[in-house]
This record gives sequence, C-alpha cells and structure tokens, in this order.
Amino acid sequence: MTEKNLREYLNRSGAILKGHFLLSSGRHSDNYIQCALALKNPRKAAILGKCLKKLWRGKKPDLILSPAMGGLIIGHETAKAFGCDFIFLERVGGKLLLRRSFRIKTDANIIIVEDVFTTGKSTMETFAVAEKEKGKVLGALSIVDRMGKRKFPFPSKSLLKLRLKTYPPSACPLCAGGIPIEKPGSRRGRKEI
Ligand SMILES: [Zn+2]
Repeated sequence: MTEKNLREYLNRSGAILKGHFLLSSGRHSDNYIQCALALKNPRKAAILGKCLKKLWRGKKPDLILSPAMGGLIIGHETAKAFGCDFIFLERVGGKLLLRRSFRIKTDANIIIVEDVFTTGKSTMETFAVAEKEKGKVLGALSIVDRMGKRKFPFPSKSLLKLRLKTYPPSACPLCAGGIPIEKPGSRRGRKEI
C-alpha cells in the first residue's frame, strides 16, 4: 500500500474525521483520527499489519507489545505478519500494566505497535514496562504518526505522517465560526456499525 493509497483508504473508511474536536490536550482541531474504523475490516487490518512488517528494516522481533485499546488489532496483525507472539498492556488506575499472566522473557526483542502516535506518551509508558521486565525494545511502529517533530529514543516508523492543525480554544477559528465542538469518541451512529 503506498502512502497515497493508505491516505485514501483512511479517508474512505472514515478514520480521518473532519469537524471541530476537543482533544485530550485541551486544544481544538478540525481533524481527528479514529483508526478503529480503518481496522474494522479484518482483511484490511491484515494488510496494514503486513505493511508495518515491511516497513521494519531491523532485526526480527520475538514479541509485539501494544498498549490497549488502540494497539490491540494492529499489534495482533503485525505479530501475525512477523510470525511472532503478541501481548498487550492494559491501563489500570491510570497506569499501563502487564496482566492476564502475560510475561516478557529476559532479552526478548520487542517491537511496540500502536495505531497512532499522538503525544508518544503511551508508547513511552509501554517502553518503560518492557525495560522493567528486561526485554529489549528494538523500536516502535504505527499506522499514523501525528507527533510532529517529537521523536522517541529508539527507531520508529509509521505508514503515514499526518500534521493536524490544533488551536488553543482562545484562538480557534472553528469556535470563532460558531461551529459546535465535539469530544471524539462520544459521537454515535455516523460511520460506526
Ligand atoms: Zn474550537
């Protein structure tokens, strides 16, 4: 899948939402990425997993590690493409934890897989858990990167880089235009099934 094809597919699947959104940072934006919509078709999800595997030029991982919920499907599909195991972290009381008797073997080569790199916070938390368990993080992969100029302290690759414009509420042109704002994830019935 080329970047152009991927962008078209994300648009077609409704994963790139257009409107007026309140982000978790408190800033406003005219776009929002909802990757779950791009992954609802299992065949497409498998293709995206294969694309992430192809993008990775480094050592083969022993394990794909993803933070739930966003990383679940794409992490699983990427592990399938690599032919390695997949486990995930869950957020409990604000902290990402290994649960369900999941274990990371000492020196296991790990790639962290996410749907979107947004602020990079969950990726760094996942990295911290992997290090604590004595795994070796080779790098991180995602479908979409919207971190801008921020970088991880390990190699990372994404299928698509998106620069979304965000505004402080006081300088938001959408607010000035009187467009009602919505909190992503709260809307029902538009493209979801
Ligand atoms: Zn606004």
